[in-house]
Amino acid sequence: MELERHTYDVVVVGAGGAGLRAAIEAHESGARTAVVCKSLLGKAHTVMAEGGIAAAMANLYPEDNWRVHFRDTMRGGKMLNHWRMAQLHAQEAPDRVRELEDWGALFDRTPDGLISQRDFGGHRYARLAHVGDRTGLELIRTLQQRTVALGIDVYMECTVTRLLTDEGGITGAFGYWRESGRFVAWQAPSVVLATGGIGKSYKVTSNSWEYTGDGHSLALQAGASLVNMEFVQFHPTGMVWPPSVRGILVTESVRGDGGILKNSAGNRFMFDYIPDFFRKETAETEAEADRWYDDKKNNRRPPELLPRDEVARAINSEVKAGRGTPHGGVFLDIASRRSAEYIRKRLPSMYHQFKELAEVDITAEPMEVGPTCHYVMGGVEVDPDTEAARVSGLFAAGEVAGGMHGSNRLGGNSLSDLLVFGRRAGAAAAEHARGRHGLELPDEALADAARAALAPFDREGGENPYTVQHDLQQTMHDLVGIIRTAPEMEQALERIAALKERVANLSVEGHRQYNPGWHLALDLPHMLVVSECIARAALERQESRGGHTRDDFPATDAEWAKTNLICTQAADGSVALTRQPLPQMPSDLAGIFEETA
Ligand SMILES: Cc1cc2nc3c(=O)[nH]c(=O)nc-3n(C[C@H](O)[C@H](O)[C@H](O)COP(=O)(O)OP(=O)(O)OC[C@H]3O[C@@H](n4cnc5c(N)ncnc54)[C@H](O)[C@@H]3O)c2cc1C
Repeated sequence: MELERHTYDVVVVGAGGAGLRAAIEAHESGARTAVVCKSLLGKAHTVMAEGGIAAAMANLYPEDNWRVHFRDTMRGGKMLNHWRMAQLHAQEAPDRVRELEDWGALFDRTPDGLISQRDFGGHRYARLAHVGDRTGLELIRTLQQRTVALGIDVYMECTVTRLLTDEGGITGAFGYWRESGRFVAWQAPSVVLATGGIGKSYKVTSNSWEYTGDGHSLALQAGASLVNMEFVQFHPTGMVWPPSVRGILVTESVRGDGGILKNSAGNRFMFDYIPDFFRKETAETEAEADRWYDDKKNNRRPPELLPRDEVARAINSEVKAGRGTPHGGVFLDIASRRSAEYIRKRLPSMYHQFKELAEVDITAEPMEVGPTCHYVMGGVEVDPDTEAARVSGLFAAGEVAGGMHGSNRLGGNSLSDLLVFGRRAGAAAAEHARGRHGLELPDEALADAARAALAPFDREGGENPYTVQHDLQQTMHDLVGIIRTAPEMEQALERIAALKERVANLSVEGHRQYNPGWHLALDLPHMLVVSECIARAALERQESRGGHTRDDFPATDAEWAKTNLICTQAADGSVALTRQPLPQMPSDLAGIFEETA
């Protein structure tokens, strides 16, 4: 077998915000570091992030501080977040944003010259540092430039298909160059997974082609655990028309900057959906809501800025009740509330997105929007301080890691999560690698990984990967979507079992050089495993909380507030599910929920 081999201390899989931040830290901690990514450097999903990075820098509201950010994050996640992750995130995010600025990021400014911060759902104060609605682009540009300047090795358009382990833990990773189809192995005592999310298991999604759950599945295979996979975030506002762009994100900044939601009867329906949990801080009339835009300190927030799970469910209900738009969404209107100049300045990407993709001028007419699969809160179970997974030498940061966001992520809290935990993972991975040299990658393990990767070429007349992917996406959309019931999820699990058999019989044609059918055939087992974890955990959790809504168990249950659901891989390769108590929050942090700021 022809195989390219490399040796490092730390291999980071993924070049989004988490991966690049981890690689920079590992390198600066003295580790020989490589980054491997499926797409071109600079094209990771993070580049699509729009609204901003949440950090309590108090540039607009001196009252803001990490304690309020911590509280907002925990409440947004319906208290299922790992308290320690939420604490570290809130405490360290401001420094990570300032550091990014030191490294050359150019943020929008306040009139006083400070980093501007914008409003987003669930955040008590305007807290998102941003660059128009293209924040992810600036974040990636800055981190990428630094990665290159530091001379960190980057393997781009290169997919990792297997983590290599021995009885002591991680020994490296195996993958292939997408262009040539040739195999490559990295020997390393530390691997950081920063592979992002899982959205491509769903039919309607804001996620890019890379989001096939590789890191979740690779971790599981290597012996790590996944926590709370049932929690998938459906962003309330994706495009619904034309069909070719269905699911593409309409940033929450539109609502943060004044946009309101209306049904086909012209009613501002969010007033009908204010949950008791958020009633104290949410305006109950249009006049009160509108006052907030002028005086945010002394007025309650508009209901359009409730956390995403609440808004997505409300839109879903309006459409189901027959009050949707012609294309099955609701109206998002900023045109009647802000000047064309303001909209073009604050939301340039949205302006162009609608103009070019839907022939809608958002400065003059409302948008049609509806929920879209956006983010997975569940992920690799990690130690909050080091991001170490259950397998020695394996670390995970960013969207692939679980725990930080509980049952529902607040907007802006992902970009800050990438920076805070990417840095911590990189440092811990470098520390782990210290003194661990001379690992072996046994030939048999490498040959086995190669055989598995090439298997679809050896079968003739088998299943077409695109058909299987389509059927999986339809299944997840129809049966494990925004509103769930036991019979539907049982049906989904049956279908997933059947799809697994079909995946075992995939065949592809052509050569190994740039063969997208083959690439998909290698992604599909990951998508299936992740989908199974989501469906199993969602069936088990008999309550509604955050991103997980059960029609047959509509209430939030105090008992379930104490329980995490953990997926591991059983000896026969199936997914095993266990319950685990939530870590207890210390009393000094619990006291924050009594504070009134
Ligand atoms: C349209 C949109 C807008 C958003 N806006 C915001 C926002 O304003 N604020 C916010 O906080 N969050 C936002 N989010 C969420 C946020 O962008 C993501 O959660 C975040 O960027 C994920 O970063 P990451 O580093 O974990 O992964 P990514 O940026 O997705 O990077 C994953 C990397 O892993 C690589 N990879 C995956 N599998 C493999 C493999 N098998 N082998 C090798 N490489 C692999 C990919 O190539 C890629 O380089 C938005 C999301 C979307 C879709």
